[in-house]
Amino acid sequence: MIVTRFAPSPTGLLHLGSAYSALVGWRRARDAGGRFLLRIEDIDPTRCQPEHAEAILEDLAWLGIDWDGEVRRQSEYLGEYRAALDRLAGKGLLYPCFCTRSDIEAEIARSGHAPHGPEGPVYPGICRAIPASEREARIAAGEPHALRLDMAQAVALAGPLDWQDEEKGTIRATPEAFGDVVLARKETPTSYHLSVTLDDALQGVNLVTRGMDLFEATHIHRLLQALFDLPVPLYAHHRLLTGSDGRRYAKRDRSLTIAALREAGHSAAEVRAMVGMG
Ligand code: GLU
Repeated sequence: MIVTRFAPSPTGLLHLGSAYSALVGWRRARDAGGRFLLRIEDIDPTRCQPEHAEAILEDLAWLGIDWDGEVRRQSEYLGEYRAALDRLAGKGLLYPCFCTRSDIEAEIARSGHAPHGPEGPVYPGICRAIPASEREARIAAGEPHALRLDMAQAVALAGPLDWQDEEKGTIRATPEAFGDVVLARKETPTSYHLSVTLDDALQGVNLVTRGMDLFEATHIHRLLQALFDLPVPLYAHHRLLTGSDGRRYAKRDRSLTIAALREAGHSAAEVRAMVGMG
């Protein structure tokens, strides 16, 4: 049975682009008599707001989207993500990173060579070399730190990995292009990559439908699946909708939120038709 999901981060109101994403996953599940799950990815306390989560649920229901089971709210499961991090730490695959953004920029400028990954400049490894005793002392002193994945070691441990993209076929995972990604941020004991991978497996999602903007992230998710010994879903990355100016819909486009379209008097059927899902 197909299990899909929609997993918004409640950093703003639902807009046409994210409504399209929700409709794609919902249709795939419903057309196949499968399950459609909803997950609120609210791990970032500085950017996510409960009222946005509630508004998103209301807009989805208004659009005619229904979901199976309870909504999973990631902020309620921080302990699970911590436990998963402990497992990676037990394999020696994590290290604390005390760097600020400006430390990283300064080091990149100093070294004069800045390999670029899919998410921007690759972390230059400053904290990878800190001796264990110093790490422990700095953590004990309460110095804020993130946790980074030691990518070279993780890739060596996992070996070659593939994943299936519905449109592009078999993809060889190349997570090394990202460098030592952050798996737990300074302000929250997890990250998008960690939570999304664990939760898709935990919820039994076997078809991940999401926007092309997250295609590259799948390389990291595939590696994490291997490290945690999780099943690998099929991926279907859909096109990103653009406005008449050719730019992607984004949360800043207030007039294109579902709430604004509702207030302007459009029906749910009209809004679904606007994104080609009439
Ligand atoms: N929470 C992510 C976002 O809103 C999407 C996660 C996913 O679909 O993998 O961009």
